[in-house]
Amino acid sequence: MNFEQFCFEPGIVAGIRSAGYTTPTPIQEKAIPLVLAGRDVLGLAQTGTGKTAVFVLPLLQRIAKGPSRQTRALIVAPTRELAEQIHQTIIDLGKGMRVKSVSIYGGVSKGPQASALRRGVEIVVACPGRLLDHIGDGGVDLSHVEVLVLDEADRMCDMGFLPDIRLILKHLPVKRQTLFFSATMPADIRHLADSILKN
Ligand code: AMP
Repeated sequence: MNFEQFCFEPGIVAGIRSAGYTTPTPIQEKAIPLVLAGRDVLGLAQTGTGKTAVFVLPLLQRIAKGPSRQTRALIVAPTRELAEQIHQTIIDLGKGMRVKSVSIYGGVSKGPQASALRRGVEIVVACPGRLLDHIGDGGVDLSHVEVLVLDEADRMCDMGFLPDIRLILKHLPVKRQTLFFSATMPADIRHLADSILKN
């Protein structure tokens, strides 16, 4: 089993090679084909399993075609460290492409984030609170989002972000692909997953 079977664009293949990935991890092998097929996916996966590439690689494949400089994917993560890590994975795997991504989180100035959003990006990686701030300012347009990723959903729930996530959902198109990752599946997370995963 190798990455060739997924038929990624040459720019993505170059990114995979330069990241040093040769064999897909078990979750990549199972989930990447489903994500590429446009299905919603519920992934029970911890950090270290290779779950980030499960959504980043198909996102890059999707974004290689279609309009640029409009927000087509939103990735929501609980902490700035995780948001930065995902943003860095997008840069690393997407370096053979023209994709633009921005990470949005609190505790730092809003200005540079707002400027990047104004210039236009295809992927927004955000923590819930600061994303809602930018939404409140009218600084981010989520009406063209094709894919929503919720990463470490159980941690977001533990940190009290569930109401923020429900608010963010109201700004997204109903017709979209949703990818949901969680290390554990307590009842409230199961309920959230059931309510937002359709396909
Ligand atoms: P993640 O679980 O997404 O946080 O990934 C954990 C680590 O595994 C990261 O450092 C990735 O760069 C690395 N990684 C992800 N997929 C692969 C792969 N197929 N082969 C080798 N390393 C990988």
